[in-house]
Amino acid sequence: MTQNKILIVEDEEDIREILRFVLEKAGFICFESDNIKDAYIKIIDLQPDLVLLDWMLPMGSGIELTRRLKSDELTAKLPIIMLTAREEESDKVLGLDSGADDFITKPFSPRELVARLKSVMRRTGVVADQTKIQVGELTLDPASQRVIIKGQPISIGPSEIRLLTFFMTHPERVYSRGQLIDYVWGRNVYIDERTVDVHIRRLRKALGTEHSQLVQTVRGSGYRFSTKLDEVG
Ligand code: CA
Repeated sequence: MTQNKILIVEDEEDIREILRFVLEKAGFICFESDNIKDAYIKIIDLQPDLVLLDWMLPMGSGIELTRRLKSDELTAKLPIIMLTAREEESDKVLGLDSGADDFITKPFSPRELVARLKSVMRRTGVVADQTKIQVGELTLDPASQRVIIKGQPISIGPSEIRLLTFFMTHPERVYSRGQLIDYVWGRNVYIDERTVDVHIRRLRKALGTEHSQLVQTVRGSGYRFSTKLDEVG
């Protein structure tokens, strides 16, 4: 099972939902965005392994974002698959000229989508990161979806694992409840901010008294995963 991260940039919610469904089923972790400005922030913040990018977006096209990403050293190697509703050959050429690594025309078959995605990943050398994540005495094994503290697997629910995976790969930064909903569960899932607090409580409980303080409340802002003691308390 792969754990590669895909950013889906698509303004049509139903298509985004289908893409997420198909890709999560294929074992990918998905993030979503509906415009290029937000997509750019998420690319820098969340460091996806591949971007699935719609051509026609409301505030600047997918081509624009591709050019920006490919011209910046920091993001030039990020594989991009362009999604488009148009089939004309000229569009295809334009898309590939912009630096997109591949092209998928809507409507697409789920099987084809996953196959193309994997082929671009192979070609561009993106390999699923199955490395265990270690923070202090905490080890998270993405392959088995287990959390181990001092050699003992702990009892933890699927939502809390997702939340913890995000925290452990993005430590020492404050995320608002809204950002956590967006990054951990995605926009298509209806979760209110109080539910985030519930999952945070469960996560702390699962981590136990000794490690619960890794998940810190930052008053007025949100939460932070940190091995440093919270100065505010
Ligand atoms: Ca669109």
